[in-house]
Amino acid sequence: MLNNLEKFKCMKRDTAEINLDPLQRGGILTPEARAALIEWGDGYSICDFCAGVLDRIKNPPVEEFVHSVLPKFLGADAVRVMHGAREGKFAAMHALCEKGDWVVIDGNAHYTTVLAAERAGLKIEYVPSSGAPDYAIPAEGYSEAIERAYEHKGNVSMAVLTYPDGNYGNLADVKAVADVCHDFGVPLLLNGAYSVGRMPVNARDLGVDMIVASGHKSMAASGPVGLLGASEEYARTIFRLSATKKNKEVEMLGCTVRGAPLLTLMASFPAVVERISHWPEEVNKARWFAAEMEKLGLIQQGERPHNHDLIFFLAENLYEISQTAKKGRYFLYRDLSERGICGIKPGLTRQFKLSTFGLSRDQLGRVLNAFDEIIRSYAKA
Ligand SMILES: *Cc1c(COP(=O)(O)O)cnc(C)c1O
Repeated sequence: MLNNLEKFKCMKRDTAEINLDPLQRGGILTPEARAALIEWGDGYSICDFCAGVLDRIKNPPVEEFVHSVLPKFLGADAVRVMHGAREGKFAAMHALCEKGDWVVIDGNAHYTTVLAAERAGLKIEYVPSSGAPDYAIPAEGYSEAIERAYEHKGNVSMAVLTYPDGNYGNLADVKAVADVCHDFGVPLLLNGAYSVGRMPVNARDLGVDMIVASGHKSMAASGPVGLLGASEEYARTIFRLSATKKNKEVEMLGCTVRGAPLLTLMASFPAVVERISHWPEEVNKARWFAAEMEKLGLIQQGERPHNHDLIFFLAENLYEISQTAKKGRYFLYRDLSERGICGIKPGLTRQFKLSTFGLSRDQLGRVLNAFDEIIRSYAKA
């Protein structure tokens, strides 16, 4: 029996005033996108206007967005709207690689890159990072990894670089990685889940063959939504048409994002383009914040100076507090919550990541004060 269903009717959301969760900072809707979410919330709402190919809808201007604006924005010959970065990676791998092929991916890669490869039946050769404290991904690592795959008698049909990675916020030298991959005739896919929509990224200028983006991660959109862009050479295969169903692209299963998530992506796009022009200030803010945290005894990991708002910290002092604090390792989460701050995973103290994206210096000052107060309060005890 299905009973006690009343509770599903009231879907309230409780969140702190300042949210430091890197996953969420770039996905906060603009007022326009929030309005679009309500306006287009009904199922298949966009399909009233479709003559068989969703991304050719003229009003609302989906066609212009997908086929003219987004290719310019990403520096790609062709772009499709996907359900997320992971779906973009899977579609590209599934279309371009044969089962049993190898993909070379950076050691800082997101788990979804690994799952996309696994789902596509591919084997993985990793490019190890330099390890603590920088966790850098060297371009030469790609030639070594490709050669290791060759030693297994493997066919290497794609390389992936995470830009930046989701742990340390490191931005590897993409152009150098692309050159190395191209020396071996291997196409490079750039995973821009944490960059596209925050900072300037242009696939053509960076020399990459494919690029994926995440709308709900970095483009102020309500997911699931993302982008897959490709150069002409690879777009032909990835976006190939069905042999039986007219005008339907096989890898997209006909059409991808059908309704509200796409409209939120479109509605916030002008603001996203605008905010990208402020990226240098975002980087300065992140560097300043990291330096202030280090004054409190935490240690920033990853690239120094840092080039992204996602920052990983080691905090031996907070770990020590957790050994004796009431509630143990949950003290930090509780003490920050009491000060209107969330976004660091409950139970983490010794190491954690956070993001400064879109927060003002005043707000970040409040965060710094909170850490300072918390650390001091246990020193007294
Ligand atoms: C968040 C994230 C993803 C997943 O993005 P989706 O759009 O949810 O699929 C992939 N890669 C990196 C590096 C990420 O941080």
